[in-house]
Amino acid sequence: MRDALGREVRSVRISVTMRCNMACVYCHREGERPGRSELSAAEWGRLLRACAEIGVRKVKITGGEPLLRKDLIEIIENAEGFEEVSLVTNGVLLADYAGDLAEAGLDRVNVSLDTVDRKLYRKLTRSRFSPDDVIRGIEAAVSEGLTPVKVNVVLTSETVKTLPTLVEELADLEGLKLQLIEPMGSIPGFRSAHAEDGLRALGEYEPKLERVRTFHNREVYRLNNGMAIEIVKPMDGVMCEACTRIRLTHDGKYKGCLMASPKPLPRDNFGELVRTLKEYVRTRDDTFEVHQGTSVMGRMRGDVLGR
Ligand code: SAM
Repeated sequence: MRDALGREVRSVRISVTMRCNMACVYCHREGERPGRSELSAAEWGRLLRACAEIGVRKVKITGGEPLLRKDLIEIIENAEGFEEVSLVTNGVLLADYAGDLAEAGLDRVNVSLDTVDRKLYRKLTRSRFSPDDVIRGIEAAVSEGLTPVKVNVVLTSETVKTLPTLVEELADLEGLKLQLIEPMGSIPGFRSAHAEDGLRALGEYEPKLERVRTFHNREVYRLNNGMAIEIVKPMDGVMCEACTRIRLTHDGKYKGCLMASPKPLPRDNFGELVRTLKEYVRTRDDTFEVHQGTSVMGRMRGDVLGR
């Protein structure tokens, strides 16, 4: 179905936990306040069935770190019937779970890996993990067919410098795409960079614009080694124009945009749940401009981004 701005809502991003085994310096926590409550796998199944009723065809599972949920497999099984079910993960536990995830019906993964420089990685993630753990996870995902595996890189002046080494390390893996993501908000102790800086740093690979994806108006480039690069500019109104996504929070609320305030959804009556979702989507007018300068944006900068 279409929203108030004529955008067809086709996908849902669900945050299944706020728990994480990292504390990335830039993390927007999907625009959610920290919280302990988590929906059960059965509750997620019910919410996703309601999303299917209003025409949603794709599900993306995020967090926190979704792989920390012991019942993630069940959540994925309860998302059966969608055109695509994907997962966003930091990847450090992925090598252990890739086989089970694929068997449960997961179609593909996005793995966050900003750099292969060990020191920089630890500084960014404020964890003791190594990029090697993540690369093992990416390899496992590729070999289990969870492709295309999208490698998410948040752009800072430091991660831009290490981009060529990242590309070199991943070059032999087939079915991989790099996503260069411009950071939302300022990052304490780091300097944000633009997608153009990333493309410039990859100059020796001669990035060429291939197409603009209808999804969020994202530009896709191709490197001379065959690797595809997608550009993500979350703070760009042009991206909002083509936004086909709604969100469900870790505690089962609706959001029309990462920056929007959560709205409650009925828990007991399925018909009422579908009606409420329809009404929220029908009136959805969220864009970056709508939220710019509002208390929501202020909250993201303050509570979520500005630690
Ligand atoms: N723990 C998982 C992970 O690390 O991928 C999933 C949650 S994480 C919040 C989801 C994605 O949001 C990651 O790819 C991360 O790079 C991106 N992200 C987090 N904070 C961001 C920010 N301030 N600007 C842009 N992207 C951000």
